[in-house]
Amino acid sequence: MGQRAKRRVVIVGGGTAGWMTAAALVDALNPRISVQLIESPEIGIVGVGEATFPHLRLFLRRLGIDEAAFMAATHATFKLGIVFNDFGALGEEYMHGFAGFGEAVAGVPFYHYWLRMHRHANGAAIGDYSIAVAAARARRFHPPCAELGGEAAFSYAYQFDATRFAPFLRDFACARGVDRVEATVRRVERDADSGDVVALELGDGRRIEGDLFVDCSGFRSLLLGETLEEGWESWSDWLPCDRAVAMPCGRPAGEIEPFTRAIGMPSGWRWRIPLQHRLGNGYVFSSAHVSEDEATAQLAAVLEGEPLADPRILKFRPGRRMRAWSHNVIGIGLAAGFLEPMESTSIYLVQVAIDWLLELFPIDAVDPQDRATFNELIDFEYARIRDFLILHYHATRRDDSPFWNRMRTMEIPESLADRLALWRQAARIPFYGRGPFLEPSWVSVLLGQGIRPEVWDARAQLPDAEKLRGAMLHLKGDIDRRVYTMPGHSRFLQNLLGQEDRVG
Ligand SMILES: Cc1cc2nc3c(=O)[nH]c(=O)nc-3n(C[C@H](O)[C@H](O)[C@H](O)COP(=O)(O)OP(=O)(O)OC[C@H]3O[C@@H](n4cnc5c(N)ncnc54)[C@H](O)[C@@H]3O)c2cc1C
Repeated sequence: MGQRAKRRVVIVGGGTAGWMTAAALVDALNPRISVQLIESPEIGIVGVGEATFPHLRLFLRRLGIDEAAFMAATHATFKLGIVFNDFGALGEEYMHGFAGFGEAVAGVPFYHYWLRMHRHANGAAIGDYSIAVAAARARRFHPPCAELGGEAAFSYAYQFDATRFAPFLRDFACARGVDRVEATVRRVERDADSGDVVALELGDGRRIEGDLFVDCSGFRSLLLGETLEEGWESWSDWLPCDRAVAMPCGRPAGEIEPFTRAIGMPSGWRWRIPLQHRLGNGYVFSSAHVSEDEATAQLAAVLEGEPLADPRILKFRPGRRMRAWSHNVIGIGLAAGFLEPMESTSIYLVQVAIDWLLELFPIDAVDPQDRATFNELIDFEYARIRDFLILHYHATRRDDSPFWNRMRTMEIPESLADRLALWRQAARIPFYGRGPFLEPSWVSVLLGQGIRPEVWDARAQLPDAEKLRGAMLHLKGDIDRRVYTMPGHSRFLQNLLGQEDRVG
């Protein structure tokens, strides 16, 4: 019997989404498939996306990529979570860390005991019982290990230079057989009967045929949006921020913070992301509430170092394509949708789409059932993230600007309204088996932004109050002790990378 022909996968786009997809597909499916990636020298990549989610570690690990090599190449730092300033109210701060709080007792999550014992304290204090939060406060870092409570105790992600990640993966993917084509797609050819995409015509006259096409063309959405006209579901009513101005600057001297900051602004919020060599800054704003010039001026006024580039305006619309997989085209990355960057979920969504594509990969023909399953799974991820993001804006007491007044008083999706009601009435978070934001994430934001239920699980009332106080003190002391065995974040980076000059 002759060899089966390879499935020809053609990826359009060489940004983070395109090269992550190429690297993962070639790694998992070579030699059953051939992969060509077309990237346009004229169009360029979006070039932002500096803060990530812990799942990225799994991606790198699966590809066998050495963490230190990746961090050196992308000027990365470690991230233990996101510190939010001025969200619940001006002057307030809390952290959404990559860790749970305390330990469940008799099957009851720790936060119920905390609610009972701290009924008059503010939300930030629950961070005392999270090792990720405590380490971030102390500006210390060490990866999880047995002495720190093991892999389950906490997790971490990275903050990196977005312009360096795609080239890093490009080298990896090309070394494993991905064929890189530098050209701009000018025309898309479809089969007259099925409507499937069959070939791409390039600016230089070449014609590239394929069996499966992955659209990683960014906001243009060349195949999924422009060619197949897949519908767009807009979430702008709930997430009105539609612009960002990005302006990196020099990093102030001193310890590198192992966390991203999200800081509430009059008409949105700004990110502050410490890398090895600079700070990433950007103001995500609603153009209905502030002009581009004014937003740029507001960001420039709070920079902590010399600007390293001219301000750059990025325009976007929060929402997603109704189906991420249509015909024989799968949209991954910005081509499939974008939720705003507050919780660093965009690269995570790229990764999830790659994981499901690998799981359901049409090695022979596209199975409509698999395609429908893929679309359902992607919908589910987007909807969960959407609600979590809206919570950050809606759960506020800020009344100092038209933007925050709108966010505080707007109608929210029913799914989020139900969650908030359940939290207020019973201090419960519905069980999530999947998705990026599980119970500790919701508890962090709800308590951090001042939504405190007056009730707790009845079983949390059972232990003797003095004993419970003692146990909680012990737990906090134990976390503090562990944190003080960790080195400072900069020191850890220096040791890992051997680059005292850059990480000092
Ligand atoms: C303001 C802002 C902040 C963000 N912050 C974060 C963050 O902190 N964390 C996070 O996870 N994500 C963040 N993101 C999202 C993140 O930047 C993207 O998810 C990620 O970079 C992937 O982008 P992409 O590869 O889909 O698109 P792009 O980077 O835009 O790449 C598109 C590619 O398609 C190619 N292309 C387009 N048209 C053609 C054509 N006709 N022919 C050939 N090639 C073509 C281009 O050349 C390019 O290579 C942010 C996004 C924005 C807008």
